[in-house]
Amino acid sequence: MLNLLGKSTEELREFLAAIGEAPYRGAQIYHALYAERRFDFAAMTNLPAELRERLSRQASIALPRIVRRHLSSDGTVRYVLALGEGKPATVEAVFMPEENRQTICISTQAGCAVDCRFCLTATLGLLRNLTAGEIVGQVLVALHDNRDALKPQTNIVLMGQGEPLLNYDAVMAALRILLDQKGVAIAPRHAALSTSGIVPGIERLAQEQVRPMLAISLNASSNEQRDQIMPINRKYPLEKLLEACRNYPLKPREWLLFEYVLLGGFNDSPEDAHRVVKLLGNLRAKVNLIPWNPGALPHKRPDRERVEEFQRVLIDKGMPCFIRDSRGQDVMAACGQLALAEAGRSHSAGGAATKAQP
Ligand code: SF4
Repeated sequence: MLNLLGKSTEELREFLAAIGEAPYRGAQIYHALYAERRFDFAAMTNLPAELRERLSRQASIALPRIVRRHLSSDGTVRYVLALGEGKPATVEAVFMPEENRQTICISTQAGCAVDCRFCLTATLGLLRNLTAGEIVGQVLVALHDNRDALKPQTNIVLMGQGEPLLNYDAVMAALRILLDQKGVAIAPRHAALSTSGIVPGIERLAQEQVRPMLAISLNASSNEQRDQIMPINRKYPLEKLLEACRNYPLKPREWLLFEYVLLGGFNDSPEDAHRVVKLLGNLRAKVNLIPWNPGALPHKRPDRERVEEFQRVLIDKGMPCFIRDSRGQDVMAACGQLALAEAGRSHSAGGAATKAQP
């Protein structure tokens, strides 16, 4: 049975033609699946009953399955999702409700091979790339599960497990559905893709007509420092990364977002802040400072005064800079923490090993 989740209108048209049905029905399935979020062929009332019945025999809509929900006191819901396409895997997605909108954080790979030293997902290694359907499916599951409390605006951030630009084709196929106003209809300016700095991927993204905002995980003020916590920097050092950023053709209301995890005593000094200003000075950039949350990894939380001083240096130089305390801390907020807990759970339960190979 062919899983239709993650298929474009064109792919759905081709599928219908291949089974001898009218290709225009593809657009109707696309509408029912992504715009109306109907995950059962029987509920696709825009299709004739005979076709609905036939589809339920010949195709499927394989949504990620919710294995566990972790509800935080601030309303954040962290999902552990089981994925069934290809090799079984679990990933996490996070639903964060706010006053007028919800933000959904999704994963693009099961595990990750990039090996950032402040990230627990890195300790899992890479299990596999997600398919377009598995990426779209995380958003659909989170929206459906919270359907009675949805706010008018939905933001998505590709900041969960995995390096999105190392799974480029599936990520873009998913984004074309998520950002299509006939599809899931998320505004491109309400979507952000976060990368550790994969330069060829940034160059490809620059060519896309419809794309999310680009966020770069910077986290250091020099190559020497960045090499220590992000080994990917040896392949794409700051000069190459920032050159790709300078060449990135920003649209009128577009910015580059730089994320900077502040590790106490490592990259949080006023000198670091001045170096960041120098690095980003000629870019249309915003900076998010993320104070480290102590956890399983051996880094320290920065002093609040240092965090505020860092921010002041950037703002004084005219650079928009925000402090972002991560949400859902009581249900394990840092990237990959939940995945790691689940891996431990599988091991202790004698289940399949989820520790993956890079
Ligand atoms: S921070 Fe992102 S890119 Fe780096 S290891 Fe973690 S998941 Fe991979």
